[in-house]
Order: sequence, then structure tokens, then C-alpha cells
Amino acid sequence: MAEFKIAVAEGDGIGPEIVKEGIKVLDEIADRFNHKFDYTNVYIGGCAIDKFKDPLPQDSIDKVLASDALFFGSVGGPKWENLPHEKKPEAGLLRIRKALGAFANLRPVKVFSELIDSSTMKPEVISGIDIMVVRELTGGIYFGKPRGVFNLPNGEKKGVNTMEYSTHEIKRIVKLAFDIAIKRNKKVTSVDKANILDVSQLWRDIVEDTAKDYPEVEYNHLYVDNAAMQLVRNPKQFDVIVAGNIFGDILSDEASMLTGSIGMLPSASIGGKVGMFEPIHGSAPDIAGQGIANPLAQIESAAMMLKYGLNLNEEAATVEKAIEKVLKDGYRTPDIMSKGKKQVCTREMGDLVAKAVNEV
Ligand code: NAD
Repeated sequence: MAEFKIAVAEGDGIGPEIVKEGIKVLDEIADRFNHKFDYTNVYIGGCAIDKFKDPLPQDSIDKVLASDALFFGSVGGPKWENLPHEKKPEAGLLRIRKALGAFANLRPVKVFSELIDSSTMKPEVISGIDIMVVRELTGGIYFGKPRGVFNLPNGEKKGVNTMEYSTHEIKRIVKLAFDIAIKRNKKVTSVDKANILDVSQLWRDIVEDTAKDYPEVEYNHLYVDNAAMQLVRNPKQFDVIVAGNIFGDILSDEASMLTGSIGMLPSASIGGKVGMFEPIHGSAPDIAGQGIANPLAQIESAAMMLKYGLNLNEEAATVEKAIEKVLKDGYRTPDIMSKGKKQVCTREMGDLVAKAVNEV
């Protein structure tokens, strides 16, 4: 029997409702594969502000760092909206990512054939897409110095941010992208702006150098403006996309919308001591407490945790197959409901996926 320690941060809004369904599915996986998941609840976000007056108490950091993975819901809501930035729930999220040293954000973009009509894109363009966007998360223009708004002698102001990457920062994210591609369709597309930016030329040189260690992986480079266009023109050409922080931020949001349903998309932030696994959506305060939130992004995040956080590949695939089965059987939460399908609430969707874990 394998034992794993999982820190659980339910967070705010719909967080507690959907995390509960994720745990339900994980428990079923533990039973089926004879594992033990030992959960420790931690406070991050608005709930931590209410209890400890801090969106990320040190006790939560300590508990997460003593775990094998962090299973995260979502944070934020109108109750805390007027606090200063550093005291808001979202500050807890940024601080925990930093504390974990998670330099890579992975966002799979997959269209479930059952949900193809939820996208605004033509079915023939998006059917069968399966992309992994690998975004650098702790460097680039979001962190580079100098930064700030400075006064000029002529009385004007000047805003400055700096895009910077050093060799090791580029090397580790590019290597991770190639390692992921090996387990998928063996193709990497690196995104940069090397025709204009020096930092991108260095990025491109390091991609070339790294690719030599992966002769079985096909790779290409795209300028970011072209990549943005290609993503909507012909997304099926992509397998793994790797990009720096700002380009990855924008492209991963664009790519996620190919699927058309925010309640379906998970993410993983990895590369540090402990990985963090969470849906890409927020705490959806507008529907919190009504039992109608879609728990599938959270359950998909559980699958990512099994695969990338705990190295349990078969278990992760089982969760994914269970989700596919439930969708194929016609069950839908209200956000993905369509004519002729069976509408279920958050809890029922969790129950159905948990049951399907033993049927796939
Ligand atoms: P949101 O993602 O919470 O909601 C956007 C829309 O999508 C809403 O109409 C919501 O009802 C719907 N939605 C989201 N998740 C859903 C689900 N699982 N099932 C069904 N419908 C779903 O974004 P927002 O409204 O801009 O932000 C709300 C709060 O969440 C804010 O405080 C924001 O800062 C925070 N936020 C947190 C995270 C995070 O914790 N990682 C990410 C984004 C936003």
C-alpha cells in the first residue's frame, strides 16, 4: 500500500463544494488501487482572512510544504474585495505559488467530444484537439527589475517593466516541456518574439540546444503573434506549447477557450518541492452555495495531481475515463447542459464520477 499526504485548501465561494467532490473521487481511487490518501485541511484565501486575518498563514505554508501535493479549490469573493491588494484572498494564492517555487504552469486543453457544441469554434476545427500549454511562472516581465512608474525631468511619468530570463530559468522550463512531450505526441512548439526581443533570442538558442537531447521529439518555433493566430486557425497542429510568463499567460487563456467551458479545465503548478493542482476558474461567488457548480475541473485537477504530483499514471487515466463515461452517459451540470441531456447538481456529478471509477 502506498501512502500520500495531501494538503487540501478548499478556499472560498464554490471551492468547498467542488473540492468535496474531488475528494470523493480520490477516495474511490484509493480504494480501487489500494492507496492511502492522508488529507490535511489548510486555510488559504478569504477563509484564512476570516479566521487568522492573513490570506496565507505560516501554519498553512508549513503544512503544505510537509505534504506530497496541494489540492486547491479557488479563492476570493465580494466580501474581501475592498481590502488592500496584499491583504486580499488572491494575495494568498500568489504567495503560496511563490513559497512552493512552482516555476511551471501546465494547462491541458482538451475538447471532450461530448461537449464539442459548448465551444464558439467550428466543431471541425476543434474536434480531437489535445494540447498542453507549459507556461513559465516565476520569471520574465512579471518579475523583472527595474519596474515601476518613474518621474521624468520634463514632468512626464515613465512606466517600466523588464523582460528578463537567465539560462537556468529557460533551460528548466524547456526541458520540462520536452519531457512532457515524450509522454504525449512528441512535438514541442516554442513561442517567442525572437525577431524583436533579445531575451527571446536567448530563449530560442536554449530551445535549440535542449532539443539535441531529445532526438525523438519534433520541435518548431513560432513568434507569439503567429502562435495566437495559429491557435484559432488550426489548433490541431499543436501538442506541447512552451512559452515565457506573459506569452504563456495570454496564450493559455486563448487556448482554454477553444473548449468553451470554464468549469471543465484544470491546471497544475509544478517544478518546486510540492505541486499545486487547481481548476482554472475562480470561486464563482454568483453561484456559490446553490449546489449547481460544475465539479469536473476540480476532479480533472485531482487527475493532474495523481499524474504530475504523485506519479500515479494509471490512476489519473482512470479518473479521466470516468469523467468521459459520465459525459457520454448524458449527465450535465447546468453550465454545460444541452437539449436531451440529464441535468444533475454538483453532488450528483461527483457521485456519478466516483461510481464510474469502478466501471472503466
Ligand atoms: P470565476 O471564474 O469565478 O467566474 C466566472 C463565471 O464562470 C461566473 O459566471 C461563474 O459562475 C462561472 N463559473 C466559474 N466556475 C464555474 C464552475 N465550476 N461551474 C459553473 N460555473 C462556473 O471568475 P470571476 O467571477 O471573475 O471571479 C470570482 C472570484 O474568483 C474573484 O474574487 C477572483 O479574484 C477569484 N479568482 C480566483 C482564482 C483562483 O482561485 N485561482 C482564479 C480566478 C479568479
